[in-house]
Amino acid sequence: MQGTGPPAKMAERREELTPMMRQYFELCSEYEDALVLFQVGDFYEAFCEAAEVAARRLEITLTSREDSSGEYPMAGIPIDNAASYVETLLSAGYRVAIADQVQEPEEATGVVDRAVTRVVTPGTVLDDELLSAGSNTYVASLAGGESGPDAAVAFVDVSTGEFRVTSGPHGTVQDELDRFRPAEYVAGPDAEGFDVEGMHTPFEADAFGRESACERLGAYVSNPEAVVENGAELRACGALLAYAEYTQSADRGGLEYISRVTRYDTREGMRLDRTALRSLEVFENREGGDDHTLVGVLDDTACALGRRELVHWLRRPLVDAGAIERRLDAVEELTRRSLVREEVREGLREVYDIERLIARVSRGRANARDLRSLKTTLDAVPLLREALADCESDALAERRAALDEMDDVRGLIGRAIVDEPPIEVTEGGVIREGYDDGLDELRETEREGREWVADLEEAERERTGIDSLKVGYNEVHGYYIEVTNPNLDRVPDDYTRRQTLKNSERFYTPELKSREDEILGATERADSREYELFREVRDAVAAEADRIQRVAELLAELDVLATLAAVAVDRNYSRPALGAEGITIEAGRHPVVETTEPTFVPNDTDLTDERFAVVTGPNMSGKSTYMRQVALVCLLAQTGSFVPADDAALSVLDRIFTRVGASDDIAGGRSTFMREMTELTEILHSATEDSLVLLDEVGRGTSTADGRALARAVTEFVHDEVGAFTLFATHFHGLTDVAAELPRARNLHFTADRSGEAVSFVHSVVEGPASGSYGVDVARLAGVPDRVTDRARELLDGDDAAAGATPGQDDHADRTRLTNGHAAGNGDGEAATAEGGADDADIERALLEADIARMTPLEALNRLDELQRRVEERQ
Ligand code: ATP
Repeated sequence: MQGTGPPAKMAERREELTPMMRQYFELCSEYEDALVLFQVGDFYEAFCEAAEVAARRLEITLTSREDSSGEYPMAGIPIDNAASYVETLLSAGYRVAIADQVQEPEEATGVVDRAVTRVVTPGTVLDDELLSAGSNTYVASLAGGESGPDAAVAFVDVSTGEFRVTSGPHGTVQDELDRFRPAEYVAGPDAEGFDVEGMHTPFEADAFGRESACERLGAYVSNPEAVVENGAELRACGALLAYAEYTQSADRGGLEYISRVTRYDTREGMRLDRTALRSLEVFENREGGDDHTLVGVLDDTACALGRRELVHWLRRPLVDAGAIERRLDAVEELTRRSLVREEVREGLREVYDIERLIARVSRGRANARDLRSLKTTLDAVPLLREALADCESDALAERRAALDEMDDVRGLIGRAIVDEPPIEVTEGGVIREGYDDGLDELRETEREGREWVADLEEAERERTGIDSLKVGYNEVHGYYIEVTNPNLDRVPDDYTRRQTLKNSERFYTPELKSREDEILGATERADSREYELFREVRDAVAAEADRIQRVAELLAELDVLATLAAVAVDRNYSRPALGAEGITIEAGRHPVVETTEPTFVPNDTDLTDERFAVVTGPNMSGKSTYMRQVALVCLLAQTGSFVPADDAALSVLDRIFTRVGASDDIAGGRSTFMREMTELTEILHSATEDSLVLLDEVGRGTSTADGRALARAVTEFVHDEVGAFTLFATHFHGLTDVAAELPRARNLHFTADRSGEAVSFVHSVVEGPASGSYGVDVARLAGVPDRVTDRARELLDGDDAAAGATPGQDDHADRTRLTNGHAAGNGDGEAATAEGGADDADIERALLEADIARMTPLEALNRLDELQRRVEERQ
């Protein structure tokens, strides 16, 4: 985060500055670490060094200004379009302090008062334009543990008021950071060693002190010590609230809507770390995009509230079988009762983002249209309750019962605010007639006056006999009677001249003048009365923020339940049975791949007596898809969703681990062997017999012999010691023998159909290990030169004969790629390394594996150079 600091040179000559520039510099030094945008009329301006930064970053013109302060650079952006400019500054790493005029210019005696009304940072943006409707923007706060947990983390979404806190061992807190993915975070001096995606903002260490934190939290909840579990949580909450106040330039009053500090226990949710979320493509695909993701398949939500809730549910699948069943009961009921489901969804489509609306209402930033949107949303509540009237499942019945129809708030907005109010709330037209007697009287006076003026033309024409006489109004001179020059001699005595034009004169009469004063006075007073009434209504609504947030929460949950039901029906999902002894899936499908693959082949899974399966088969045959589909079926089930399978009986999992081998982890860009081993360590340490472990090509990042040995050792350890449900996809063919030996392990494999010249994948998983000689055949079919495939066969045979219990790797992978034309050539080098001519084979393999089509000339040269050196070294 950076600011520009106060522009030093000019600031030194403070006494010579104009009052406005003095004010600007004072704000700059108060908000030293931010770039101050200073309201001047309809623009936000930056001056001096800040102007130079703004002009450069925003690609706007750098102008200059000259006054008694001297001549200095200036750059400005129109307030109406400020949001996108602010976003540019944020992404360039600045925080932006918005200094608004806080006084009407006509009320000011000298320079208009200005104050920083908010500091915009990546995690605390509030402009609708910068916020994505369907996702939350969080700021996190980290505090180190005193005794007990290693650390605590709190999250706030300032746009909705959502506030959560938890604590635990370092790894668990890291997982939470990975799940919430805050845009920004602050950290206490004792919170160390976390890897957070968002921007780190330095924040005063004092705010993390226990006493000040307790006091701060105490302003938001009645019993701070009872809300949190330990000191670390208390300090994370306190500091986060302090930071929220700082950015909103508000105290508790301005953040009234943050009233539900929710403490949660990470053990109530299935653990999913960053690696698992990524490799299962829950929220993001492997390229970092949002298409072809699990959330994409499920997101048929009716409103933004529901979409955010769905993300939240997927972020934290449940582990309590009872709670899962309750969700499933509701989903099931809604799948059965399509009419109810459609009525609920129809009703929810009328729903605005009332979480953000009520936050705006509380901050005093909502306009009359926002209040009408709030009413429209609340109007949907009785309809939804009606639709859910005879629901049987507890989850639906309880939510229905808890839905507050909020007659008072709806009634108030309905009575007070016109149906289609203007955006401006200070210029009248907002309050409905009949709501306030005083206002009605003022409007009546205004109306009568205007009618009198409207009749005046006719009356004066008659009185004076001037047929061309006109009555008009202009902003500067007010009401007038206009008489053309030829008729001036007929003007009566009580006309006073107001303005002379080329062909006519304009007059007023004493009565017209007094009517004018009356009308304008009444209009002005009515407008300000309306504004006053509007604010009263807004404050009254703000006082009900809690109840409205509760309604928002229930609507969000109903939306998710109805959406899960709709998706289940549309995609032919079925209800899983939870609490089984193992994982049994009949005709399971990958929820995402099945939407893109025209003929998806369903596969069974049975991890009950044999919990460990080694999965072999050529590349592209479907191993990864299969393993991930098992994990996704479990994840969906624990979210409360039906699953893409004909039938599923599932154990409740405490955690899903994924370790995807080096070759697959391209998007992460950090597929080093060290990383692979670190992740493996975590799995071996933390997995339990209730965990699901997906190992995809573990051991590929090192020499074949090491890799093979590791794969075997891992298999034995997980099988004997951990007992987790495990799917291990591997190209180390030897592992299949291990699986055959171990009592609770089995082999599964995928095949390809190689009839004739064409190779096609069957995508169907079958019992037993893949055939070891398969890859070489595919390579030959694909047109790899005979010399290579013959040599590969020779090496493979030698290896099989020599290696016995440690057979060579069946490296189908690259050979299958050949059939798809992705690689230049390949032998069976890894198998070869098991033999005497290891170096030769290694070099040969490296040569053949080089994907020339995808290399830059420089990479190719480097590779060639490296190979040359290796040959030289041996000579
Ligand atoms: P690799 O070893 O390279 O990781 P793999 O054996 O794991 O390959 P997948 O990546 O799972 O293969 O699948 C390759 C492609 O095959 C997928 O992108 C998908 O389009 C298709 N596919 C996978 N499983 C199925 C299936 N059951 N039905 C239809 N198509 C499938």
